[in-house]
Amino acid sequence: MEHKQCDLCSGTKFEKIGNRDRHGNPLESVICKTCGLVAHGQIPTDEELARYYATEYRQSYHGELTPSERRVMRAWKNGERIFNQLQPHINSNAEVFEVGAGIGCTVKVFELNGHRASGIEPGEGFQNYSQQKLLTDVVRGDLFEQPRDHSRELVLLVHVIEHFNSPRRALEYIRSMLSDTGQFYVECPNIAAPFARRSKMFHYAHIHNFTPSSLKMLAESCGFKLEQQFGSKEDPNLQMLFSCSEKSEPIIDPTNYQQTMRVINEATPLRYHLRPYYFSSRLTKVSSYLKEHLTARQFVADVIQQCQQHAANTHKKTLSETRSAA
Ligand SMILES: [Zn+2]
Repeated sequence: MEHKQCDLCSGTKFEKIGNRDRHGNPLESVICKTCGLVAHGQIPTDEELARYYATEYRQSYHGELTPSERRVMRAWKNGERIFNQLQPHINSNAEVFEVGAGIGCTVKVFELNGHRASGIEPGEGFQNYSQQKLLTDVVRGDLFEQPRDHSRELVLLVHVIEHFNSPRRALEYIRSMLSDTGQFYVECPNIAAPFARRSKMFHYAHIHNFTPSSLKMLAESCGFKLEQQFGSKEDPNLQMLFSCSEKSEPIIDPTNYQQTMRVINEATPLRYHLRPYYFSSRLTKVSSYLKEHLTARQFVADVIQQCQQHAANTHKKTLSETRSAA
């Protein structure tokens, strides 16, 4: 097999676990037999990825250069969830920096709660919306252009790590942006969560697929220490907060390969549909989808007003501070 080296453990022994993506297109997926990290058989180069996003961007955001109200509402609620779960674990004045900030809702929620907050987002449409409607400090930018000056206090990476061709390179880079007392929050899909079926698991854009153990191993070998894991075992997303520590050789969890294989082999449609609460959770999904349509417009209007009010208050405060200083 041509897959060269595992990004987590540098291992070279892989087992093929899939040859189609979730849309039925050819895509080879492999698991590292040493550490259990799941990745594409062929890791795309930077050039291939740039080309993919240039075309993918045109296709999937066609007609949605500005995000829909439903998308903004969901992103805002997600930002509130992230803020609420991190709040007990971070300094109340920690400065926040989000890599891949999307619409910028999370950045704004932190700002409204008294944090200095900013971010970078490569997608033009979402970044424009973020700056113009939510009045965030989110600029267009790439992770690898950021200064590695150990000045950052809290870096957020939400549904981004799975898109890197080398998550190790990304995490080591983020570590070099953070101060030694800094923190790093990462969220990504959990391949160990219950899935519809094995054929729905893989996606070209998700180059690496993590279990709780493989994400923890990778981060720890890039100079982080797990501080807190959020969500249940069944949660479709991994949510982990790390503090900074010394970089160390990867400590391999020898059970991760077997456990990941078990999860993948168990991911059959029957098992998924027989999950307890499957039907009630489907019903909840359908009804909340309808409700979303009805409430999104008002919700987003309120959010935008709140952002503008906050900006006006901040401006007034700055003016009066300038006056009293003069
Ligand atoms: Zn490995």
